[in-house]
Parts: sequence; structure tokens; C-alpha cells
Amino acid sequence: MSEKRKTPMMDELEKGPWPSFVTEIKKAAAKNESAADLLGLMERSYEDKVGHWKHGGIVGVRGYGGGVIGRYTNLPEEFPGVTEFHTIRVNQPSGWFYTTDALRSICDIWEKRGSGLTNLHGSTGDMILLGTQTEQLQPCFDELSSQGWDLGGSGSDLRTPSTCVGPARCEFACFDNLDLCHDITNTYQDEIHRPMWPYKFKIKIAGCPNDCVASIARSDLSIIGTWRDNLIINQEEVKNYANAGLNIRDEVTDFCPTKAITYDAEKQELNLKGEDCVRCMHCINKMPKAVKIGKERGASILIGGKATIVQSAFLSWVIVPFMKMEPPYQELKDLLDRIWEWWDEHGKMRERIGELIYRKGMGEFLRGVGLPPVPQMVYQPRANPYIFWQPEDFEENK
Ligand code: SF4
Ligand code: SF4
Repeated sequence: MSEKRKTPMMDELEKGPWPSFVTEIKKAAAKNESAADLLGLMERSYEDKVGHWKHGGIVGVRGYGGGVIGRYTNLPEEFPGVTEFHTIRVNQPSGWFYTTDALRSICDIWEKRGSGLTNLHGSTGDMILLGTQTEQLQPCFDELSSQGWDLGGSGSDLRTPSTCVGPARCEFACFDNLDLCHDITNTYQDEIHRPMWPYKFKIKIAGCPNDCVASIARSDLSIIGTWRDNLIINQEEVKNYANAGLNIRDEVTDFCPTKAITYDAEKQELNLKGEDCVRCMHCINKMPKAVKIGKERGASILIGGKATIVQSAFLSWVIVPFMKMEPPYQELKDLLDRIWEWWDEHGKMRERIGELIYRKGMGEFLRGVGLPPVPQMVYQPRANPYIFWQPEDFEENK
């Protein structure tokens, strides 16, 4: 093991009331050289004000193009334990539900084959195993695989789909998002494990418009539960909230963004103009016993969310206001296939689908994937007074 370094700056990060990742690395460092050298390397990076990781060759396991990310330090003589410090992404279960036995099996494998350090969970959703050597990759994967685990996505492929806890724990779920996430993960194994596209593609699924997985900002395709009939109001429960001291006008109805819901203080009743509700969830969140999601449930499909890379950060854009979400989810899968084909055909290297739509225009995207334009897609009022007719518009009117 390399000589133990002093790490005064890392030690600072242990102060304060919160759990510290430094403390956890120190615990792992007591029995693992990679973890000890990781601590030293991070201290050195703080001293030099520069990261000491570099890109290296492509590493992986047999039959998979993604799931392992190569990491190397540029100071291997000083920190030999992190000369190779590759990351393995393990596909998480839908909604991140584990048994303790399952977690123990992962930790046992990782303490034997890697640094023992984990990150639950990465921003895509995977369980991240941090730091191992190239020679350990295949045996580690074989052991994970024998326990029923599989790798997640990385590189220019479909990243591991992820979803909120949905109907397992949450009354607001508009469909079985856990089942959908599991189904599409199984359906698109090739797309997850064999990079084949211009760049990454993330799918995140939220059971309702609260969007606890922040799919609208963090995924190329967001599937967000919704309903297309009206909210269900229980006026008896409204009275109970009022009598319990909730100021319904100040705390609930005044925050309705479209004034779809109003409060009659005399009758202690809520009144709803269903067609004006934009499903922001505020009234439901504040009065869950009195206001419930409608009965005709499904999901909205949105496209193009992502963090800043080539273009600025994008929030995703509605392309299908309502789609039923029932197994085998064929309508969604057919749409995904058409979207990927169009992106693959027109996208440049490292161009996310949202950036391609920005470059080519939403009209071209919709024609390319065969979706009809609908009012919910309007992003902002148009500034250009010209209408561009398509040749087929004339054909149809002959
Ligand atoms: Fe519940 Fe909706 Fe959050 Fe999912 S997104 S956990 S359904 S509130
Ligand atoms: Fe208004 Fe939002 Fe409630 Fe709809 S869900 S009625 S938009 S507060």
C-alpha cells in the first residue's frame, strides 16, 4: 500500500452535521489500497486545483459495449492504487427497491473485486461501483451476473431507464410506472448494451406530474403520468380541511396557475373548471384527501430534456399529450422506434435528440416520426408571420 498521506483539505469536508463521503472513503481506505490512494489523489487535486483523471482506452466485458467506464489517473507512480479505477454501472431495479440480501450480495462482490466504494445512485439511476482494475472487470461481471444483476448503459446508447417509486408507495401514480420501466428495460437490452446512436438517450418515467425523477429536465424522453378527465373532489373532506384550520384560499386556490379551482368559503366547497386545469398537482398535494387525480389515466410523452452540452440546457417538450399506458406498451414502443430512426438518420455525432429538433425544427421532427401537431405542443406564440406550406398540403386540396 502507498504511504499514507495527510489530507487536511479532505478532512475539512468531514466537519458539519451531515454524513461525509470523506469519512466513508476513509473507512474503505483502512482495508483497500485503491480507496486509500483515491483519498490522496483527491487531496492532491485540491492542492493543484486540477483533476488528475485522464481518458484512457476503452474497457468493458464480453458481449457488452457499455456499462463500464474507463478511469485512469495521470499520476500512477504517486498513486498506484488508482492507476486503473474503472466504474461499473449496475442496472437498478424499477423504483430502486432492494432487499438487504441483494445489497449485501453486491457489496460482497465489490469488496472482493473493487474498491468497496459505491455511489447509490448515479444521475441516470444506476447503482455505481467505483474503482477497479481492468483484470477484475470480467470476473466481477460474471459474479454479478450469477447473482441476477446486469450492467446499465453508458456511451452512445440507451441509458438505463429509471422511474419513481410510483404505485408501490405513492397514491398519486397515474399508471404502473414500475412495470413500464421494467418492461422497456427488458425490451431494449440491445439498445442499452450496444452503443449505436449519435449520442446518449435517456428515458425517465414519473408516475404523476409531480415528476419526482425530474424527468422533464434530465431525460431525452420523459413519460409523465396524467389523467384526461377531471379531478375528483370530495366536498366532505374539503370541509374537514377547512375546519382543521387550512386557509384554502390563501394556500391552495390562489396558487392555481390557471384559476381552474376556486373556493367558496361560505359553503366550504371547491369549484372546478376542469378544462382549465393544467395538472400542476398543487391542489392535490395540499389537500390529498379532498382532491384526487381523475379516473381516465395514462401519460404525457415529452421529448428533448438535457443538461448543457452542445446547446444550452433544455426542458422537454410535449409531443403526445395523452397516451394510455398499458402492457405491452406497443404504441409507446412504436413511437420510440420511429424517434430513434429519425435521430439516427439526421443526428450529428454527440447531438442529443433535443438539439437535433432545435436545429431542424419541431415541424420536421413531427413529420419525420408521423405525429400530428396539437395545441399542447405550442412552446411560445409565433413571432414569424409567414406560413410554410408543405407540398402535401397542396396535394390534399387538389
Ligand atoms: Fe408519487 Fe408522482 Fe412522485 Fe411518482 S412522481 S413518486 S407518482 S408524487
Ligand atoms: Fe389548478 Fe393545478 Fe389543481 Fe389543476 S391541479 S386545479 S391547475 S392547482
